[in-house]
Amino acid sequence: MAEKLALFGGPKTVTQTAPPWPYLEDQDIEAGCQGLRKSREDTRYLTAPGGGGPVGDFEKRFAEYFGANYAISTCGGGPALHIALAAAGVEVGDEVIVSPYTWGQTVSCILHQNAIPVFADIDPRTYNLSPRAIEGRITSRTQAILVVHLYGHPADMDGIMALANERGLRVIEDCAQASGARYRGRYVGTFGDFGCFSIGSGKNFIGGEGGMLACNDQRLYQCASLMGMHPARHAADLVDQDLRQQSDSLIYTYRIHPLAAVIANSQLDRLEAMNEWRRRNAERLSAGLENIPGLAPPYVAPGCEHAYHMYCPTFVPEQVEGVSRDKWIEALRAEGVPIGPGYVRTPIHLRRVFQDKNYFYGKGCPWRCTRSPVEYRGGDCPVAEDRCARTELTIGGGSNWYQDCSSLMDQYLAAFEKVTANLDALRQHARQ
Ligand SMILES: *Cc1c(COP(=O)(O)O)cnc(C)c1O
Repeated sequence: MAEKLALFGGPKTVTQTAPPWPYLEDQDIEAGCQGLRKSREDTRYLTAPGGGGPVGDFEKRFAEYFGANYAISTCGGGPALHIALAAAGVEVGDEVIVSPYTWGQTVSCILHQNAIPVFADIDPRTYNLSPRAIEGRITSRTQAILVVHLYGHPADMDGIMALANERGLRVIEDCAQASGARYRGRYVGTFGDFGCFSIGSGKNFIGGEGGMLACNDQRLYQCASLMGMHPARHAADLVDQDLRQQSDSLIYTYRIHPLAAVIANSQLDRLEAMNEWRRRNAERLSAGLENIPGLAPPYVAPGCEHAYHMYCPTFVPEQVEGVSRDKWIEALRAEGVPIGPGYVRTPIHLRRVFQDKNYFYGKGCPWRCTRSPVEYRGGDCPVAEDRCARTELTIGGGSNWYQDCSSLMDQYLAAFEKVTANLDALRQHARQ
């Protein structure tokens, strides 16, 4: 006789909680305090529009760390994406191919340029853009591919870069969830024209809020600086005469807060170690879940090192027939597993704004300002749509498995085993 489910009044299996995230170690706090003290001696310390001081230190370190020629720090991952698109020459009416299975800001930056998001379907195993699906969406108006490394799993960069090079398209990588993820031994964010990172408080290493933009091309770097940085910095950044003349024409205040740069710089010391634990904890959980009916652990493609910003398995309804995803999740949650029915929920192209083609302001641009009408329909991206409707799952925050959580993973596994042993009781309950 299986032990009674917590859902039906039995004991709860999971007694531990995941470590808190975001979390500042003493060294991060010390770095922040030192920064504040320095700002009393040096009045320019907290006003670093020139890009020097702690901001310059972080950018230099970041570029070296990830292996990029240039880095620009920003006040968020979203602003980094917006800068990258503008610097890549994406403008009114241009098409940008993007995943419908992501965080909304991967797409909203395209709208900020009044460009048209064109959605391509995802790979069912990595949940990231599939090169074949991208190829089918390229038109004469396509300017760029915006690829997200969702949850920290690298997209198929070989396939995507080959396609982009063949067709002369820019590539922007959304690495907000993938700081430290590697593809064939190289950090994501260094394959395309721009890599855009977030150091917002939920991400794999943090400054509280903030973002980074990595790039290798000097001209593109200058364009990015023009778009989002203060003119005080342009004297140093801009070497091309034609760009120097545009110094104060198109600036957004997208600069990072210097203290965020200081904290993130300190956290960067531990990114590799934290990601290693995230991987080890996730792999321990995945190994145990291999034999649990009802789900498939997240897939890791050959040549990829997952950064496990989130841990997102796939529900397999055929294996737990008679038990709905919601009921199964309810039973697991009652046992103390922080499992949920998904992250994306509604694919971006089927969300309200994209269906109505209107926001709370404006004239419905970009869609109503282009000659050819754009339609987003159910069925455009069947893999992403099916995943949202039936099979996506999330467990925990992911980012907070940054230290040894093996006993917590084992408790989660015990909860899965208990629910598995009680599937008949759940079925009966569902019939009543
Ligand atoms: C968090 C996130 C962003 C935006 O980053 P912010 O720092 O919050 O602006 C963009 N894309 C993805 C995939 C994200 O997870």
